[in-house]
Amino acid sequence: MADHVSPEIRVAVLGAAGRMGSTVCDAIDAAEYLTLAQRLDLGDDVSALAGSGTCVAVDFTAPTSTEANVHALIDAGVHAVVGTTGWNSDALDRVREHLAQDGPRSRGTGVLIAPNFALSAVLAMRFAAQAARFFESAEVVELHHPNKLDAPSGTAVHTAQGIAAARAHAGLGPIPDATESAIEGARGADVDGVRVHSVRLRGLVAHEEVLFGNPGEQLTIRTDSFDRSSFLPGVLLAVRSVADHPGLSVGLDTYLDLA
Ligand code: NAD
Repeated sequence: MADHVSPEIRVAVLGAAGRMGSTVCDAIDAAEYLTLAQRLDLGDDVSALAGSGTCVAVDFTAPTSTEANVHALIDAGVHAVVGTTGWNSDALDRVREHLAQDGPRSRGTGVLIAPNFALSAVLAMRFAAQAARFFESAEVVELHHPNKLDAPSGTAVHTAQGIAAARAHAGLGPIPDATESAIEGARGADVDGVRVHSVRLRGLVAHEEVLFGNPGEQLTIRTDSFDRSSFLPGVLLAVRSVADHPGLSVGLDTYLDLA
């Protein structure tokens, strides 16, 4: 009997000259059944991918360019795996609407936007959402290298939104906070009523702590990415799976069986 042969998936990487993009290029080069077809960076034309045989594009570019890249990829009929952060709900809605248009190329296209591809972070976000309804107080602290362009991190925003949604679902009121006067920024950013604090420190990679408090007790959920290699298994899983998930998916957890 003939062995089952998985078809090769041709992959383009956007932001290929960057820290994450170059790491992803190496991982795709080394992965079975994936072919690194194009390395694109600033100034390259994303629409040229249309009809090139490229099936999936991975975007690790910049918060200012990622949305335009995704729309160009949808127009080109190329599935998108997006790690770039900086997305807000309006930008996600625009991608959803674009994918819903029944264009000849966009039909069946999958887009995954994942604020974090590290399994430890994906699980931390899920566990935080599960814990949220049991605690009066919740705050998020994210800690990153000082070259990061956006704050708070996409992971922290996603974590806070998950906590806020779980609190609302459980009928919990506002988080207690008697602050009457503060230096601007002292209480962090307000993401759906959850305070998020951003630390930028030389030597760090990507870290997050979720703090939950009740009278007399605290739960801390912490995730650390020490190295960019932590993101690669999630990126490769997404590249292999995105074609099976038409439409917009937000968060790698939507591709994992975590129910
Ligand atoms: P980087 O600055 O090292 O690399 C970005 C690259 O994108 C650069 O080479 C730049 O020239 C290129 N670029 C910018 N605009 C472009 C465009 N329009 N088209 C093509 N290329 C373009 O940044 P980085 O550290 O690699 O991070 C990139 C993004 O990925 C950031 O938003 C970061 O927060 C995010 N990130 C996400 C995860 C995750 O797990 N989701 C992990 C790490 C980093």
